[in-house]
Amino acid sequence: MLHRRIAVALLLCALLPAGAGCRRIEEAPPADPAETASPEPEPGDPDMPPHARPDLTEALRADRDAPRSPADGGGRAWIEGDANATAQTPGRWTVIYEAGPLGVAEGGAVYLMTSPFWGWSTPQTFDRDLHGYTEVTTSAAGLTLEAAAVDAQLLQVRIGGRALAPGERIRFLFGASETLAGPDRFAERDERFWVAVDGDGDGVRRILDDSPRIDVAPGAPARLILTLQSTARPGEPARLVAALLDASSSAAHFDGDVTLDALPEGLTGPTRIALRGGVGEASLAVKARGVYRLAGRSGAFEAVSNPLVVDGAAPLLWADLHGHSQLSDGTATPEDYFRYARDVAALDVVALTDHDHWGVRFLDQRPELWEAIRSQVRGFHAPGRFITLLGYEWTSWIHGHRHVLYFGDEGSIYSSLDEATDDPRELWAALSGQPALTFAHHSAGGPIPTNWAIPPDPVFEPVTEVVSVHGSSEALDAPGSIYSPIPGNFVRDILNRGMRLGFVGSGDSHDGHPGLAHLESPSGGLAAILSPERTRDGVLTALRARHSYATNGPRIVLRARLAGHPMGSVVPHSALRDGALLQVAVFAPGEVRRVELVRSGALSVLWEQEGQRDVSFELALDDLAPGEYLYLRVVQLGGGAAWSSPFFVE
Ligand SMILES: [Zn+2]
Ligand SMILES: [Zn+2]
Repeated sequence: MLHRRIAVALLLCALLPAGAGCRRIEEAPPADPAETASPEPEPGDPDMPPHARPDLTEALRADRDAPRSPADGGGRAWIEGDANATAQTPGRWTVIYEAGPLGVAEGGAVYLMTSPFWGWSTPQTFDRDLHGYTEVTTSAAGLTLEAAAVDAQLLQVRIGGRALAPGERIRFLFGASETLAGPDRFAERDERFWVAVDGDGDGVRRILDDSPRIDVAPGAPARLILTLQSTARPGEPARLVAALLDASSSAAHFDGDVTLDALPEGLTGPTRIALRGGVGEASLAVKARGVYRLAGRSGAFEAVSNPLVVDGAAPLLWADLHGHSQLSDGTATPEDYFRYARDVAALDVVALTDHDHWGVRFLDQRPELWEAIRSQVRGFHAPGRFITLLGYEWTSWIHGHRHVLYFGDEGSIYSSLDEATDDPRELWAALSGQPALTFAHHSAGGPIPTNWAIPPDPVFEPVTEVVSVHGSSEALDAPGSIYSPIPGNFVRDILNRGMRLGFVGSGDSHDGHPGLAHLESPSGGLAAILSPERTRDGVLTALRARHSYATNGPRIVLRARLAGHPMGSVVPHSALRDGALLQVAVFAPGEVRRVELVRSGALSVLWEQEGQRDVSFELALDDLAPGEYLYLRVVQLGGGAAWSSPFFVE
């Protein structure tokens, strides 16, 4: 389903401001892998892999390069009356368009486009009984308006009879019939009713930059979540965040409180947390070692937190390194994206990675959008508390998508559509000398698989995103494996070919909910970063060393050491002469069903039981050979999962 799945499902025709080279692309629905499995990709031309979409790249370039007349995008538009909506609550809105000094030629057109993200009705004029029925009128004499929904979310009004003169108006009553119009699923400030104008009638349009804004308010509270810091040492404080969410996991507009059950021995702090705008937090004092889970309630809603593990071990940081805002094809302003990450999802590290060239407006064409992101990244960054990273998504329809993260305040967009940087090797060359990393994602299928024929750069790409809202690219046998899978293109296949990659998960959220994408999708993604430093440098150092692991959303604490080495390490075979001890500890929010080992491509079950959330064991591996790799996979009841970064034996 479109709204449950992700942005590339969208309709290129609606997305392209020009509509040049317009064609429909649909994401394949999730399906039985056995039915959709295509043959293993042949290692052929690395410059044009078998699943590439050069047609899409060409269409995007044609749109980018299509000449616009001065009359395109002319005029202004506004919402008459109430410019508010409530998520998932049908309504009716009036949009007025007024022609600019150049007017709109006879044969030209004015377009009304609701946001393609997520769930707005298409403005349409063909059926009063369907959502989004729209009346299009004008008081200008001698004008004919020919209105037609020409694509999802896109209503075209062709101007006939004569030109629309400067100052003349067109009125759109969106949701005109009793069925009204359906708004977005997700709360969002400053969402737009996009208006575009083909002023000279050549079929090329441009959007109005100041298209009308509408605020979509969250719905009523529907669930409570309690997020507890995952690790602490005795004597340190631990942060607890409470959030009351609406039915689509936006923070509900609610002022009240959460009452915690009596705190367990070993923790002290308040048992009442005030909620403002649905969110609140408390600082707990940690007195003693142990594993803690807290329960609380707010009105009819109850929740149990994830575990807090208090021992002497090094801390971990929870990160979501991949997500989208309304500046490309997601929900939320950049400011609200970062606020949600910090205050609702209680992340330690977050990146906003809007597309370089995908969505309604394009970052690589509009420096002001990139500057808006940079300024929010700078504003929210608080070393020691909350780490923000500047980034974007290099959205190649030839080689697969990669997001680029910068670990300083500076960074440029090297566009996947720019002929100078449309190959990953050119991207890495452009990044040379900069504190940056790149992350291949949905690499085994989804909207576009990764072209592994070009090996990941060892400096810029030490880790790979094995799980997100698209599902898992680890292996076909993974919980929630990716849709449209390409056998032979999974991360496990790549490790089998000798590449060394650590693992992260990240949401690729488009719903404005970084860190909690799994609440609205069968799968999400988080990265656990094993960094003793809560700084950008600490995160960069940990990722370069592959000291990280992935989950598909739940905050599973996973500890693993091989012969004393942390996950992600290259372990010299000489260190394993006396046998290799694999030490494993898991502290999970849910019941752990299995702990599995993948060793040089082979899957085995190390531990399998019911009824336990905390699991620890040791295993002697006495026959590891140079060139082998191994990693752990933890599976909870219900499909929550974690993947350790691999150990590599050298
Ligand atoms: Zn992507
Ligand atoms: Zn993405």
